[in-house]
Amino acid sequence: MFDVVIIGAGMAGSVLAERFASVGKKVLLIERRRHVAGNCYDEVDENGILIHKYGPHLFHTDSAQVWEYLSRFTQWHLYFHKVKAVVDGKPVPLPFNLNTLREVFPTRLADKLEAALLGNFDYGNKIPILELKKSADADLQFLADFIYEKIFLHYSEKQWGLSPDKIAGAVTARVPISISRDDRYFNDPFQAMPLRGYTRLVENMLDHKNIKLLLNTDFHDVMELRGEQTYLFRRKFKGQLIYTGQLDELFDKKFGTLPYRSIDMRFQSVDDEQFQSAPVVNYPNNYDFTRITEFKQIHPAQVERTTILREYPQEYVAGVNEPYYPIFTDEARAAYEKYSDELKRFKNITAVGRLAEYRYFDIDDVIKRAFEVFDALK
Ligand code: UDP
Repeated sequence: MFDVVIIGAGMAGSVLAERFASVGKKVLLIERRRHVAGNCYDEVDENGILIHKYGPHLFHTDSAQVWEYLSRFTQWHLYFHKVKAVVDGKPVPLPFNLNTLREVFPTRLADKLEAALLGNFDYGNKIPILELKKSADADLQFLADFIYEKIFLHYSEKQWGLSPDKIAGAVTARVPISISRDDRYFNDPFQAMPLRGYTRLVENMLDHKNIKLLLNTDFHDVMELRGEQTYLFRRKFKGQLIYTGQLDELFDKKFGTLPYRSIDMRFQSVDDEQFQSAPVVNYPNNYDFTRITEFKQIHPAQVERTTILREYPQEYVAGVNEPYYPIFTDEARAAYEKYSDELKRFKNITAVGRLAEYRYFDIDDVIKRAFEVFDALK
């Protein structure tokens, strides 16, 4: 009946469903939630503002292929994401750059530190904080300690429950120190938001006669793994199975629970036209939440109120909250490897996406990965 079964209708599962459907394969797409688009899911709230239910998702890519592909399913609102971080009570541009330097230090000191940065790095370079901390130059050492303490240390402790040196360097390297006056959060050539949201985009992607979508369906209700065989509706299934959920759930947690980080997303409707000075403001040093997102600044809306989101990081507990991020420690990676080794016994199952591959994929990364999997399996 079906050539391909895909578990999870997030970005990974939906792109693969569309790709297989486009070459004539019959696809069954199973989704536990009541909606598609995974954590990109967005909806218009009571204020008439498009909000991201599972936290802010900003699209940016260096890939013309990804951009052109998505452009088949959506128009765009051209948008450069901006973030500020509150340092000593003042919101300043993030990534930390030469403008930030002038906002946090008096002019003479800023001049000296800027000269030290430009003496050691080329204009336009990006330096991860853990790299800058290794600097031998005394001025850069001072600057690195300042940025580490004021921007990374306490934010990361809140976000991960760990200090930056306990998590993989690539995580904090996502927000490097930028030797430039560019306040944009990302530098990719393609940056925009889907005009009518990600949910609409994904719905358009899945609108294909070869795709059968089952919402509100746990994969355990239709699939089973026995020996090295997969079963669909109790019959042997010989086609391709794409799994995009948590890998421990695929194997009934036989090697224990895989850790993920969750966030308590608390939305608030505010009786003001505008709440803050940037679409996202990070609070590294105060409060229990990490950041506030004001969605109206991402998706403009001509309404009098505004909707904000505070993110309170917390441990993930299955069945209680949502798994948002893998944990980037050696220990968590080792726990994941046990499951990925187990997966190798099943020749027809491929794990794809942030949850299943235990990777910090951005939206464009996951689409690139879906293309790669499609090319290998088609
Ligand atoms: N980070 C930080 N302070 C900030 C912003 C980011 O320490 O003000 C660190 C933190 O460890 C965070 C990581 O950089 O988890 C990546 O930040 P990004 O904004 O990419 O996180 P995401 O939007 O994916 O949650």
